[in-house]
Amino acid sequence: MSFLVPCPHCGPRDVYEFRYGGEFQRRPPPTVSDQEWADYLYARRNVAGPAKEWWYHRQGCRRWFLAVRDTRTNAVLEAFWPEDKPEGAG
Ligand SMILES: [Zn+2]
Repeated sequence: MSFLVPCPHCGPRDVYEFRYGGEFQRRPPPTVSDQEWADYLYARRNVAGPAKEWWYHRQGCRRWFLAVRDTRTNAVLEAFWPEDKPEGAG
C-alpha cells in the first residue's frame, strides 16, 4: 500500500522512499531492573490509531525523523526532527 510520508526536510514523498524504523520508545530510567529492561526492548504496543514512529528518508535527505501515523488509515498526522521535541509528542 502506498501513502505519503511528509519528510520535515523534503516534504511529502512516497512511502517507498523511506525505511520504517519502528515504534518510538522513550528510554527507560537508568535504574530499571533486568526484567524492566527486557520489557522495554521486546514489548511492543500494538497501536490502533496514532503511533509515533521512526522513519529514515533513504532516497532523500538520508535523515531519521519522527512521524505520528494513524495505523488504521496510514495518514501521517505530524512529522518532525527528534531534537525539535525532545520529550516526544502524541
Ligand atoms: Zn527527506
